[in-house]
Amino acid sequence: MIGEIPDRRFAELAFPVPPVQDETLSSYIPRLARANHVRLDHFMEHLTGRFRQYPRLNETRAHALAVMINRPLETLLYALPELRGQAAHLELQLHGRTLGRHPNRPGWLCRRCRWQKLIATPVTRWQRHDQNVCLRHGLWIGEGVSTENDQVDLTACPEIIQAHRYHRCLISRLGRVPIAYAYYESRSIQLEWVAQGRFQDVRARRFDRLLGSGWRVNRESAVLNAVIYPEVVALTGILASAYWRSLAASLAPMNVMRFYGEVGNRVHPGYRRAGNGFDPLRQWVEALAHPVWLGRATRSPSAVFAANEHDYLDTH
Ligand SMILES: [Zn+2]
Repeated sequence: MIGEIPDRRFAELAFPVPPVQDETLSSYIPRLARANHVRLDHFMEHLTGRFRQYPRLNETRAHALAVMINRPLETLLYALPELRGQAAHLELQLHGRTLGRHPNRPGWLCRRCRWQKLIATPVTRWQRHDQNVCLRHGLWIGEGVSTENDQVDLTACPEIIQAHRYHRCLISRLGRVPIAYAYYESRSIQLEWVAQGRFQDVRARRFDRLLGSGWRVNRESAVLNAVIYPEVVALTGILASAYWRSLAASLAPMNVMRFYGEVGNRVHPGYRRAGNGFDPLRQWVEALAHPVWLGRATRSPSAVFAANEHDYLDTH
């Protein structure tokens, strides 16, 4: 129940299109203005009450917008994360909801989901680190997607879709914050292996299946991020494990070898031990085992969780 009287200065729009869940303001407000055939600057001027050129999106007034699209204010605030700061007086249930800020990032809604919703133009929404695959349509929507056209169809590589399921399983077992941290560590290691030309065969086979012969990709491309995803998630599962981290940090060589062996079993077959000092996993192990020597702090997922580093909250 909202204890506010509707503002009579604002009338319901002729086409009050609803927002998509977690849509960004920079996606929704222009879409709403376009649907109603109103210039964006005029629309914003009316919505914000700022009679000057180019009022900013972050000046959007949630209450006025709720009246204009004839939705309860609470419904609007649950859908648009960036507006929730205006509703400290409401008791919103935010646990598990996506936050509209770092570490989340704006990402493109799956284009096939958009078509199903009969939305004519691309939509961006706030995405968590684990929102990489649309399971309904099998499209890559994660890192590297800069336009809808980058949303590669993963049907030919079911192991990437399966990795997404495993990623979600890890989060349900260990929590989103430790997994997010281990995921970024793992992804950084995998990208360095890519830069060094390691483990090319598995990537080449997946590129062939996804793109056909004669493919060319760059380091930032969505398809490269999709292709390395199964190994990124597999390594995440090891790096997030307190047991395997303790072996990696052990001063007993046998324990460290067991850690490398596990990476060989679950991530890259044949990886048994780090070759040289340039190996990113070996650097990670040494930083974990000898943080003082290297002037680095130990960064276990539990420590990250306790310190709330990167401004993570369990509600993101
Ligand atoms: Zn979809």
